[in-house]
Amino acid sequence: MYYEGLTLKELMATPLPPITYQKKLMYRPSLEEAIYTYNLLNEQIFSNKLLIPEIEIMGRCRKYWGMCYGSYDEPTKNKSSCKIRMMDKWYCRQWFITTLAHEMCHQYQWDVQGIERRKIGKEPIMSHGPSFFELRDKEARDFVKKRPRSQTLV
Ligand SMILES: [Zn+2]
Repeated sequence: MYYEGLTLKELMATPLPPITYQKKLMYRPSLEEAIYTYNLLNEQIFSNKLLIPEIEIMGRCRKYWGMCYGSYDEPTKNKSSCKIRMMDKWYCRQWFITTLAHEMCHQYQWDVQGIERRKIGKEPIMSHGPSFFELRDKEARDFVKKRPRSQTLV
């Protein structure tokens, strides 16, 4: 069940689940919900500049919450060169949304800024350097501020 029709800010402001629920990592998003959330973030944070990549929900990625892979295939304006993999079990929905937004910043570096970098003879980068933080415009900063206090970015 995923509250269709709510904005991101409204979703982030919904109450956190009880601690016992969080400890058991009971929030288990379906692929359909992940795609729904991706589209919401793309519209409200990235002005729909991203093309949806392959998204995978994985059970056995214990060492990370989410990951963005970038392919070195020739980039195009019609297809993402990335793949996003997300863990299947989460403390709460808010954590999942914030992590997906984080992976989408990497996708933006690769797919959007990567094309610009190649034009000037540079390789695309995917990092937590200055270009990552450039993406945090005012709206994104407001959004990130609302994340649960215990949450860390990955
Ligand atoms: Zn990262």
